[in-house]
Amino acid sequence: MLLGIAAASIIMFVGHGAAVIPQVIHGLRGGPAPDPLLTNALLLNIVLLLFGWRRHRALSHEIRERIAAEAEARRLSDSDPLTGCLNRSSLTRRFDAMLVAHHERPGTVAVLLIDLDHFKLVNDVHGHQTGDDLLVAAAQRLTCQLPAGSLIARLGGDEFACAVPVPHSDRQLLATMADALIAAMAEPFDLSLVAARVTLSAGVCTNDPPTLDARTLLHRADMAMYHAKKHGKNRWALFEPMMEREHIARRELEAAIRHGLAAGEFVPYYEQQIDIETGALVGFEMLARWLPEVGERPGPDIFIPVAEESGLIAELSDRLTEQALADAAEWPAHLTLSINISPVQLRDPWFAQKLLKRLLTANIAPSRLVLEITENCLHGNLAVVHATLLSLRNQGVRVSLDDFGTGYSSIAQLRQLPFDRIKIDRSFVRELGSEGARAEVVEAMISLGRGLGLPITVEGIENSGVLRALSDVGQVEGQGYHYGFPENAAAVRARLAASEQTTTASAAPRAAGEAA
Ligand code: C2E
Ligand code: CA
Ligand code: CA
Repeated sequence: MLLGIAAASIIMFVGHGAAVIPQVIHGLRGGPAPDPLLTNALLLNIVLLLFGWRRHRALSHEIRERIAAEAEARRLSDSDPLTGCLNRSSLTRRFDAMLVAHHERPGTVAVLLIDLDHFKLVNDVHGHQTGDDLLVAAAQRLTCQLPAGSLIARLGGDEFACAVPVPHSDRQLLATMADALIAAMAEPFDLSLVAARVTLSAGVCTNDPPTLDARTLLHRADMAMYHAKKHGKNRWALFEPMMEREHIARRELEAAIRHGLAAGEFVPYYEQQIDIETGALVGFEMLARWLPEVGERPGPDIFIPVAEESGLIAELSDRLTEQALADAAEWPAHLTLSINISPVQLRDPWFAQKLLKRLLTANIAPSRLVLEITENCLHGNLAVVHATLLSLRNQGVRVSLDDFGTGYSSIAQLRQLPFDRIKIDRSFVRELGSEGARAEVVEAMISLGRGLGLPITVEGIENSGVLRALSDVGQVEGQGYHYGFPENAAAVRARLAASEQTTTASAAPRAAGEAA
C-alpha cells in the first residue's frame, strides 16, 4: 500500500509540479498568482511524499530489526545454550547440507562422536556449576582443535559431535586429529576455584561411501565411540562394519533378555563361601544363570552388562533377589546370602527402601544379607550411593567390595564408602597354586585390607594348591570351584540337608556315649 501511495504521489507530483511550479516562479517574478487549488494540491503532494519517505524509513528499520531478531532466534534455537555449539537438530540439518556441498568437492568428511569420561564424577565431587564450566571449557578446547569449516555440536550431557572436512579418509590423518583432541582434553582445566581433569573417548568414521547421510554417519561414530569406551576409555576407535554387527547382536540379546525375564528363564545359583581356617560354610553368593527351556544362553559376564546398559538390570536383579531370599529363608539362620549389585541399581534413591521391604517380606534378618559392589560404583553419584549404603548398614546389611584390585580407585576413594569386607579378585589368586608362584601380591592385598580394618574373602580358589598357599595368611574366607561349582536351590537344599545329617549323626553317638 505504501508503495502504491508513493507511486501515486510521485506521478501526481510530476503532473502537478509541471503545471504549478512554472506558475509559482512566474508569480514570484511579479506575474499573476498561481491557481490556489493547484498550489494546495502540490503542497498536499509534497506532504504525501514526505510521509511516504518517513514511513519507508520506519518500515526499513522495522524489517532490519525483525530480520536480526529472526536470525538471533534461529541462532538460539540452533545452538546449545550452555556452550554455544550447535544442538542435535541443527547439526543434522547443517551436516546434511555440508555432505551435499561436498559431493562436488574433492576430499571427504570425518565425523567424531566425543564423550567425556567420568564427567559425572566432576559434577558429583565439585558441583553442577563446576560441571557446567568444564563443559564450556571443553567445548572451547574442541573448537580450537578443529580446522575451519568444521561443525561442532553438543548432543546433550557430556557428548559432542564434530563434522570435519578432510582431504582423504586416511587412517593416519584421522589418528592425528583424534589424538590431538584427546591430548587437548587431558590437560587440566583451571576452573574458578578448582582444578579438574577429564579425558575423552571418541568414535570416528568418514563419509565413505559418499552416499551416507548425517544420521547414519552419526550412528556409525556412536558405535565406534561405544567401542572406545568399552575398551578402556581415554581413546578413540575408527568405525568398522563388525561394530554394526555387534550393535545388532546387542540389541537382539537385549530383546532376548526381555523375553527371558517374562518367561522366568533367569534363576539364582549359589556358590559356597567358606571360612578357610575352620572349613566351615559361612554362606552363599548368589550368581545369576539364564536357563531357557531349550537351547543355551550366555553367562552373566555377557548378559549382565547388556542388562545394565538397557536398564533391565533392576528388574532382573529384583526377580533373582526375591527368589534368593525365599531360598535363604530355608537355610540355617547363621548362613549369609551375598548378592551382586550393579552400579546402575545404586543410582536409584529408593533402592535401600525396596530392599529392606523385601527382607521384611521374606522374613530374613538384614544381618544375613551381604551386598557385593564393585569399584565402578565410585564413578556414579557418590552422594546417593553413600546415603543408600549407609541406610542399609544402619539396618544391619553388610557391604563387600567385590573384585578388589581390578579397578583404578585410590585408597582415599575406597575409604569414602562404608565397606565391611573386601573380596580379592580371582585374577590375583589363579596362579597361587602353580609351581614357583609368588603370593606377594595377594599377601600385600590382604595386609592392605587388614590395614583398612576390613576382613577378607579370597575368590577363585580352584584347587588345594591355592588353598595351601593361602594357609599361612591367617583368617580369611574363601570361595571357588575347589569347594564345588555354583549350584541351584535344590542342590543347595540337598547339600545342607546332608551336612545337617552328618552333624546329627556325629552328634548322636556322642549323646549315646554320654547317656551310657
Ligand atoms: P563375580 O561377582 O566376581 O562372581 C564370581 C564369578 O567367578 C562367577 O562367575 C563364578 O562362577 C566364578 N567363579 C567362582 N569360583 C571360581 C573359580 O574357582 N575359578 C574361576 N575361574 N571362576 C570362578 P559368573 O557366575 O559367570 O559371574 C560372572 C560375574 O557376573 C560375577 O562376577 C558378577 O560380577 C556378575 N554377576 C553374576 N550374577 C549377578 C547378578 O545377579 N547381579 C549382578 N549385578 N551381577 C552378577
Ligand atoms: Ca561377586
Ligand atoms: Ca568377584
